[in-house]
Amino acid sequence: MTRLIFLGPPGAGKGTQAKVLADWLGIPHISTGDILRDSVANQTPLGQKAKDYMDRGDLVPDSLILDMIRDRLSQTDTAQGWILDGFPRNVAQARQLDELLEAMGQTSDRIINLKVDDAVLIERLLARGQDQGRSDDTREVIERRLQVFHENTAPIVDFYGDRPALISIDGDAPMAEVTQRLKDAIAP
Ligand code: AMP
Repeated sequence: MTRLIFLGPPGAGKGTQAKVLADWLGIPHISTGDILRDSVANQTPLGQKAKDYMDRGDLVPDSLILDMIRDRLSQTDTAQGWILDGFPRNVAQARQLDELLEAMGQTSDRIINLKVDDAVLIERLLARGQDQGRSDDTREVIERRLQVFHENTAPIVDFYGDRPALISIDGDAPMAEVTQRLKDAIAP
């Protein structure tokens, strides 16, 4: 049983690393960004509401995200644990997650703060935009997403403060090395 929360700026490698660890641990990787992108592609009501926020690089309203997370965490594949990637994204979501987990009788084992400098992030995200064609990986939207990260998401680290579950990992290294640092940090 492992329950992990991944924090970090866009482009830190959260999604890539979370996928590798989810396979390694045999638990689902729950990415709010992936769920939202699928919803937009399938033109669901959620996707239609979320699209404009995502195109601008802004956060989608908390109420939509919380319903989505509550649904996802109640699915049976989460019995052995989960990795949350991209949620919580602000302090209000972190508080709501605390409440949700308490109601479900769960706690997170590790809160991983994956750290990478802005200059490295911008280069990585521009490269990803060219590779994967993600519509929010343009310079203008990247700068907005980083601003949103510093204003809204970075304060979550202070919110979790001195919880023993909180660990910081330097994400500015080759992918395999970061994976190894993460495995070392979460190994029982
Ligand atoms: P990501 O793939 O995590 O970078 O997310 C892509 C976009 O989806 C973000 O720029 C937001 O617009 C939206 N998004 C993803 N997760 C959240 C969240 N927890 N709260 C609000 N918006 C989110």
